[in-house]
Amino acid sequence: MSFVPFRPPRRILMGPGPSDVPPRVLEAMARPTIGHLDPAFIGLMEEIKGLLQYAFRTGNPMTLPVSAPGSAGMECCFANLVEPGDKVVVCRNGVFGGRMVENVVRMGGEAVVVDDPWGRAVDPDKLRETLRRHPDAKVVAFVHAETSTGALSDAQTLCAVAREFGCLTLVDTVTSLGGVPVEVDAWGIDAVYAGTQKCLSCAPGLAPVSFSERALEKVRGRSRPVQSWFLDLSLVMGYWGSGTRRAYHHTAPINALYGLHEALLILREEGLERAWARHRRHHRALRAGLEAMGLAFVVPEAERLPQLNTVRIPEGVDDAAVRRRLLEAFDLEIGAGLGELAGRVWRIGLMGHGCNRHNVLYCLAALEAVLSEAGAPIERGAALPAAMAAYAGDGEAP
Ligand SMILES: *Cc1c(COP(=O)(O)O)cnc(C)c1O
Repeated sequence: MSFVPFRPPRRILMGPGPSDVPPRVLEAMARPTIGHLDPAFIGLMEEIKGLLQYAFRTGNPMTLPVSAPGSAGMECCFANLVEPGDKVVVCRNGVFGGRMVENVVRMGGEAVVVDDPWGRAVDPDKLRETLRRHPDAKVVAFVHAETSTGALSDAQTLCAVAREFGCLTLVDTVTSLGGVPVEVDAWGIDAVYAGTQKCLSCAPGLAPVSFSERALEKVRGRSRPVQSWFLDLSLVMGYWGSGTRRAYHHTAPINALYGLHEALLILREEGLERAWARHRRHHRALRAGLEAMGLAFVVPEAERLPQLNTVRIPEGVDDAAVRRRLLEAFDLEIGAGLGELAGRVWRIGLMGHGCNRHNVLYCLAALEAVLSEAGAPIERGAALPAAMAAYAGDGEAP
């Protein structure tokens, strides 16, 4: 057997993440590795913190990327904020809310679960009712953008409800950051985590997090140390904190951080508001095309994420065969259903750099071709004109 360098196929990534990484980010990651205590690198760390504050819309000094994927960001927030015995209300409307419950239990907390149907936003009234019955709850946790279903919850209202009852808020913005408004300070989010491979269009493997002063007070008042040595904020800050000794904690993923810096620069050059508008515009065109083809959305329009479009698989169509054909014939990846929705839906991502007109039109054409070939009961020849009309209606040349 001979081993040769791995040359990945060229794909178009339109699933739930990772999303397409632009060449600028890949080039940045290929620059020479330097030491994690090199003064030049410390300068880069400070810039990354500032750019993350911009992306999260926060002045929190405790804003940094955890050196591991989004799930580690989730675990970092729960590990630091939840002490054994703490009561945590978790709003669950999909797979990732379920993982939050699991985190609370593993930290020794008591999880009070507020369930909402999959494919719907979290209901603030149910949260309020639950908090009335549990006045001793300390934290409210929810997923802003449920990637397993494509539902967007009203984080601002949920945070306001939590605050009425004196609870800290812990919010998953892995899929929302960079795609729809996330206002950490204005909404009063206390602990937030994200990922790099969704709407930030960076390689996977880092988890931006941010903690408010109130959250840090809770962490400082802990009666016992954070159970996880690696994710303990007080230790991580000895390395990431401005004005600290920059003590070695772990070796930072240097080249991955070059990539994150570049991805955040791209986001800042475009501007958050323009990025949000771009996600809405291309979502409208994709939606017009999918609906013209006869595919139905799972999430009601007012609760839909522009960056993650979940549609029902038509009757009698082989889920895996269609996705395989899209990958083989078109180099196009779309997402399968997760959890309750496995085998019943496709999840089509329009995230970050991949949220563009080329991808919208390409995906519609490819999906129509593959579904026609499979004999699916779809409307033919309608998707592309509908998408182009949507673009024209938005004041753009078709
Ligand atoms: C992708 C995702 C995660 C997990 O991120 P990983 O980088 O895969 O660990 C967590 N929450 C949500 C909402 C996600 O979409």
